[in-house]
Amino acid sequence: MDKSSKVYVAGHTGMAGSAIVRGLISRGYVNIVTKTRSELDLLDQTGVKEFFEQEKPDYVFLAAAKVGGIQANNEKRAEFLYDNLVIEANIIHGAWKAGVQDLLFLGSTCIYPRDCPQPMKEEYLLTGPLESTNEPYAVAKIAGIKMCESYNAQYGTRYTSVMPSNLYGPNDNYSLESSHVLPALVRKAHEAKLRGDSTFAVWGSGNPKREFLYVDDLADACIFLMERGVSEGMYNVGLGADVTIRELAEIVMEVIGFKGEIKFDSSKPDGTPRKLVDVSKMNALGWKATTSLRDGLVLAYQDFLKGAQLFQNRS
Ligand code: GDP
Repeated sequence: MDKSSKVYVAGHTGMAGSAIVRGLISRGYVNIVTKTRSELDLLDQTGVKEFFEQEKPDYVFLAAAKVGGIQANNEKRAEFLYDNLVIEANIIHGAWKAGVQDLLFLGSTCIYPRDCPQPMKEEYLLTGPLESTNEPYAVAKIAGIKMCESYNAQYGTRYTSVMPSNLYGPNDNYSLESSHVLPALVRKAHEAKLRGDSTFAVWGSGNPKREFLYVDDLADACIFLMERGVSEGMYNVGLGADVTIRELAEIVMEVIGFKGEIKFDSSKPDGTPRKLVDVSKMNALGWKATTSLRDGLVLAYQDFLKGAQLFQNRS
């Protein structure tokens, strides 16, 4: 990958895609192609095919996806399945048709079985039933992984997949209904502090464990793989340590300076009990995440504060 290579980042307005663009710019890449949704609808097969034929990028980062937290995944099951399948099919197939040899697809750790041995190794894919709250999303992501593998096997491409643990950082979604837990708790603790509340609502039992990865660390891992030409197979990317949701809530309260008590809402689902990834495959290549949960939370809170006024009149 040289600095003038044409690199297309699909999903550049999202949290992961924008971090990949930041990472590429900071490393001196000068030929980055991005398209907004109004310029290119990734659900439009013909439009995506024509885009690839015209642009013919050298490298593709596929970070476009319909994403959301446990409630959004559980309720909008058809949308999560359809949108993600179509985006992956259009981009992977369009890239191959246009002669793209190197592509990196962003998956998710929810592709692993619900009761997967921990930490989860890449080889545990498809060894057991999935967690039901995000099964449609996981099935779509598994299809993306299998597309990459199948195109490599049949057509000799170098399409690789990365499975990041729960991401957070700049450009996160802070909507209370559709976000993931970390941004939701940042917003709830911040607003509870402003209102002077004595309690702070956390969904579920607080017992599930999750591993949180600062999104710039993910971007670093993706560019690291592409630069090394490690362009096949599947790689877990995570911090290598997890916390319970209760512990996360406590750290969030500390970083934000909210001194109330946690109130668990048992009407909300817990989801998968644990999903810690085994990062030994990435570590063996010489890559390791560098942002601790506490440091990343401080950065995420700063980013939240920049846009906090936007949430004041919204749910
Ligand atoms: P998951 O990792 O796919 O299960 O997605 P989430 O990040 O949405 O949820 C992780 C865990 O955090 C689940 O056990 C949720 O019930 C719990 N959780 C606690 N409070 C919240 C909240 O305010 N929003 C969300 N999305 N999850 C929460």
